[in-house]
Amino acid sequence: MKATIFGRFAKVLVPSLLLAGILYGQENSDKEISKEKQCVLDYLSQSTVVEKFGKISDAIWSYAELGLQEFKSSALLIETLEAEGFTVEKGLAGMPTCFVATYGSGKPVVGILAEYDALPMISQKARCPKQAPLIEGAPGHGCGHNLMGTAVSAAAIAVKKAVETHSIKGTIKVFGSPAEEMLVSRPYMVRAGLFNGVDVVINNHTDSGFSTSYGVRGNALFSVVYSFTGKTAHSAAGPWGGRSALDAVEIMNVSTNYLREHLHYTYRMHYVILEGGEAPNVVPDRASVWYFLRNTDERLENMYQRVWNCAKGAALATGTELSQVRVLAAIHQSHANKTLAELMYENIKLVGMPEWTDAEHEFARSLQRELGKEEKGMPKEVGKLGKPAAVFTGGASSDHGDVTLIAPTATIRFPGIVPGAIGHHWSNVTCNYGSSAWKGLNAGAKAMAATAIDLLTLPEELQKIRQEFEDYSKEHPYKSFLPEDAQPPLDINEELMKKYRPLMEEYYSDN
Ligand SMILES: [Zn+2]
Repeated sequence: MKATIFGRFAKVLVPSLLLAGILYGQENSDKEISKEKQCVLDYLSQSTVVEKFGKISDAIWSYAELGLQEFKSSALLIETLEAEGFTVEKGLAGMPTCFVATYGSGKPVVGILAEYDALPMISQKARCPKQAPLIEGAPGHGCGHNLMGTAVSAAAIAVKKAVETHSIKGTIKVFGSPAEEMLVSRPYMVRAGLFNGVDVVINNHTDSGFSTSYGVRGNALFSVVYSFTGKTAHSAAGPWGGRSALDAVEIMNVSTNYLREHLHYTYRMHYVILEGGEAPNVVPDRASVWYFLRNTDERLENMYQRVWNCAKGAALATGTELSQVRVLAAIHQSHANKTLAELMYENIKLVGMPEWTDAEHEFARSLQRELGKEEKGMPKEVGKLGKPAAVFTGGASSDHGDVTLIAPTATIRFPGIVPGAIGHHWSNVTCNYGSSAWKGLNAGAKAMAATAIDLLTLPEELQKIRQEFEDYSKEHPYKSFLPEDAQPPLDINEELMKKYRPLMEEYYSDN
C-alpha cells in the first residue's frame, strides 16, 4: 500500500474543491484585457490545467531533491515543456540539471527563471499543522521551489498558446536553474552565455502575499568551504605528535565570531562544520567548515578577505595547513527594475488574490496557532508594490541577483504559504503541497504569463524597461564575483541524496 504523505488535515485536499474554476478566476474585470492576455488567463483557468500543474508541483514536492541532484524534478519539467513543443537544451553551464526551454523566434526575447531544489533537514508531512517529518532528517521543500518551477512552466506554456493562436512575434525562454538554495547556478549560467540576447527577465518566488518590488534587495554572498590538513596521532598516548585540523576550524570560527563586531551591520555570516574527525582518540588530520558570507555588493569582497585571514591565522596557530579555499558560489545583490515591477504589479492586481475555502483558512489558523502567530487565516488582498527600504540592513540572498545586472529583471511573489509560516522550516514545507499551494501557483503563473504577454506585445513598455536598465548599467556594470576557476559543486549534496532518496521513494506522489 502507498504510504501517506499527509497529516491529519488531509481532508482539505479534496480535488473537487480545487477544481471549482471559480476559485481561480479572480481577474479584476473593469480593466480592458487584450485578446492575447485573455488567452493565457483562459488557458490557466481551465480545471484540467490547474490539476495538471498542481500534480506536477506535488510530485516535485515529494521528490524534494537537493541542489544539483534535481534529476527527477528537472526531468519532469523538461518533459512537460517538450510535450508542448518547446525546444530544450539540457545539462548546461556544467550542471546536469540545468536547462533552457525555448519557444518562438526572434525579438523580443522574454526569459522566465525556474527553480526546483529543496532544503536539507526539514522533511514534513503535507498540510499538517504540527511538526511531523515524513522521514526524520530528510530534505523538504521549505521555500516552495516546487511551486516556482511548475508555475513558470505553466506560464510559459500559456504564453506559447497565445503566441500560436495570435501569431505573436518573439521568443519565450524558461531558464531551468538548479541549486538556488545554495545560491549556485545563475552566475555559472551567465558565465556560459545562456542569457545572451535576452531582453527582459521575469523572476518569481513563493510568499504568503501577492506582490512585487523594485530596487536593491537581499545580500550578495560568497559560499566557501575552508579545509585544513593536520597530522593524526594517538590523542592520549602521544597528542604532541599530532596537529588537529579540527582545532583550526574551531579557532577560525572563534576569530570570525570576534570579527562580527567590526563588520558593517549589513552583513550576515553563518557556517556548518562539514568534517571534524571521526573519533576522539585519533587527532583529526582533516577538517572543513562551510561558510555563507553575505553583505552588500560593495562590502562583500572586503569581508571575504577578512574571513580568509581568520582561516590563515587559524592554520598558523595550530601548525596545520589551510589546504583548500573552495568557492562554491558567489553572487550579487538583486537590483530589480522599477518599470518592469510596475508592469508586473498591474498584472498582479488584474489576477487578484485567490479565493480561499473555509478549510484553507482553518488550516492556516491551526498552523498560526501552533507557531504562536496571529490567527488571521489566509490573506484576502494583494499586497503593495514594494519600494527599497529607507535603510538597508541586510538579509537573505538569491542568485538571480546576477541576472538583474545582465538584463532588466523583477520578481513576482505569489501566495499560497500561510502567513506566519517560517522560511526554511517544517511549517513552510507543509504549506507547499495541494490545495492552497495549487491556487498560489496558478495565480503566480497567471501574473507571469500576463506580464510576458505585455512584454511581447507592448514594444513601448519594453523600451522603457530597457532604457531604465541601460541607464542603471552605466553605474553598475556587471562583473561576476566568481573566481575564474570556480566550478559548480556537483558533489556537495551527493551523499545526502544517496542516503535519503531510497527512503523517500516510497512517498513519491506520482507512484
Ligand atoms: Zn527560495
